[in-house]
Amino acid sequence: MNRITIAIDGFSSTGKSTLAKQLAKELGYVYVDTGAMYRAVTLFAIRHGHIGGERSNGEALVKLLPNIKLHFEYNDDLGYSEMYLNGENVEKEIRGMDVSKHVSHVAEIEQVRYKLVEQQKEMGKEKGVVMDGRDIGTVVFPDAELKIFMTASPQKRAYRRYKELLDRGETVTYADILENVEKRDYIDSHRAASPLKKAEGAIVFDNSDMGLKEQFERIHNYALRIIAKT
Ligand code: C5P
Repeated sequence: MNRITIAIDGFSSTGKSTLAKQLAKELGYVYVDTGAMYRAVTLFAIRHGHIGGERSNGEALVKLLPNIKLHFEYNDDLGYSEMYLNGENVEKEIRGMDVSKHVSHVAEIEQVRYKLVEQQKEMGKEKGVVMDGRDIGTVVFPDAELKIFMTASPQKRAYRRYKELLDRGETVTYADILENVEKRDYIDSHRAASPLKKAEGAIVFDNSDMGLKEQFERIHNYALRIIAKT
């Protein structure tokens, strides 16, 4: 059977990665979480004092980009790949609020985007990939056979993220999360380089009132129909 490329874009905390992981598992495809890559670069910048507070310095970060090596490693127990920064598993650190607060500023830097997009193109060149992010259908794989654009109300998204972080033992408030979600939405969709927008031909999914199971079944069916025709 022919393999296709599935590009999933959308606002933060719309359940893109949950959907992408399920699709990849069901189809036997590789799942790539591109947000994890921007988060790992942000963690590197924070650790080196180039972002956050008064020391924010995009230029210094750009100079250090060749020193940043990112790769994913499949974790059998979890059933998906985890993010490694210079050989270290950083899955836990990149999901915290500190990284979330700065990641959209790092993702505005053109040279950062260039480096990560090149790596993403390479990872998906054999097809059979489900990739999620903000610019997958517009920039990374504009020719993807299936493009999805996901959205939901900021309040619903913030609440989902709030519960996720509480479950992980983080001390957070709903108000902080809502503010972070709205700020990232704004920066992500207004930046000069590859702003978040619906790709041409993308199917829009508003899952404010749709269960995960129903959403998965509908998108899985789209994928099967496209694969059958490819
Ligand atoms: O998907 P996630 O919420 O983990 O992404 C974190 C941030 O990384 C986004 O808010 C966005 O600023 C950036 N990002 C991006 N392009 C992508 C994926 C993520 O700019 N393809």
